[in-house]
Amino acid sequence: MATIAAERLTFTRLPHPAPASADARAAVLANPGFGSHFTDHMIVIDWSEGRGWHDAVIAPRGPIALDPAAAVLHYAQEIFEGLKAYRQADGGIALFRPEANAARFNASATRLAMPRLPEDIFVEAVKQIVAADKDWFPPVEGGSLYLRPFMIATEAFLGVRPAKEYKFIIIASPAGNYFKSGAPAVSLWVSEYTRAAPGGTGAAKCGGNYAASLVPTAEAFARGHDQVLFLDAAEHKWIEELGGMNLFFVMADGSIVTPPLTGTILPGITRESLIALARDEGLTVREERYSLGQWRDDTTSGQLVETFACGTAAVVTPVGKVCGEDGEFTIGSGGPGQLTGKLKARLVAIQRGEAPDPHGWVMKL
Ligand SMILES: *Cc1c(COP(=O)(O)O)cnc(C)c1O
Repeated sequence: MATIAAERLTFTRLPHPAPASADARAAVLANPGFGSHFTDHMIVIDWSEGRGWHDAVIAPRGPIALDPAAAVLHYAQEIFEGLKAYRQADGGIALFRPEANAARFNASATRLAMPRLPEDIFVEAVKQIVAADKDWFPPVEGGSLYLRPFMIATEAFLGVRPAKEYKFIIIASPAGNYFKSGAPAVSLWVSEYTRAAPGGTGAAKCGGNYAASLVPTAEAFARGHDQVLFLDAAEHKWIEELGGMNLFFVMADGSIVTPPLTGTILPGITRESLIALARDEGLTVREERYSLGQWRDDTTSGQLVETFACGTAAVVTPVGKVCGEDGEFTIGSGGPGQLTGKLKARLVAIQRGEAPDPHGWVMKL
């Protein structure tokens, strides 16, 4: 049904009865934190079998009415994306690789038996909410607007089959500056739980994966760690990723290793971008399996010098310490590594329009 093109789907702007006052907005933007404050608007597009995508609106942000039998509430037919609009050095606004999010959204939709949203409609919807909420960028350097597109099954039906009605929605949340003082290195807890099994939904960005990661994450927090590290489900040996970030290992010879996308790892856009930037620098990047034991041995022998995690929200986060049931080890000095900092700075400069964009990743609005 996904044959409609963006130019045939008109976004209707619904009047907002009570947008936040300039004072209320300024108070939020002075200290936005992450994910707890939202802008005035949301995008909603409906889908139903037979009609396809229709009724695209830029609406006042607010609660959505759902039948208590809506399929998403019972069988978790939900997918999402996460991307940012960045304030540019020249004062403009830009998106970073939104087509990559659109493509991944459709890959997730296919895995969850949901309708595909044409990529141009996805990107147009993102542009529409950024335009409607352009006053919601935190005024600090590096302030951005975090965008959360998602899709839910809304059909009221308790039988187990793909729903015949969906809503695509985008909400937006102002995000503060992650880059002010450089991220401190995090400590990881190696979980006995697994995140994704071969043939499962690990490569899809769906809420269900996150629901399953909450107990292992809480366990990591309870033990005093910042993040949970998941190993593969089959052998419980190979490093996969964190709850919401991909991992990179920097060797003493300057080469980089990251786990391959075999279906159990979420294909991060930050991951893919950093691989490209590292190769631009002339570095060798190997997408190959890396085991927890090898990681410990390489760290001890000095063969491995840095490890970092990456994702849209925090860009690049150095890993300082790894703990599990069989002990712990510290990476490098336990603080942020050199190449980690360099790659992060390269990526952030491109996202903020402060450096040339050789890959054509930045979409200026
Ligand atoms: C979203 C996500 C990532 C990071 O993807 P980016 O596109 O880089 O933001 C990594 N792992 C999981 C499980 C995710 O959901």
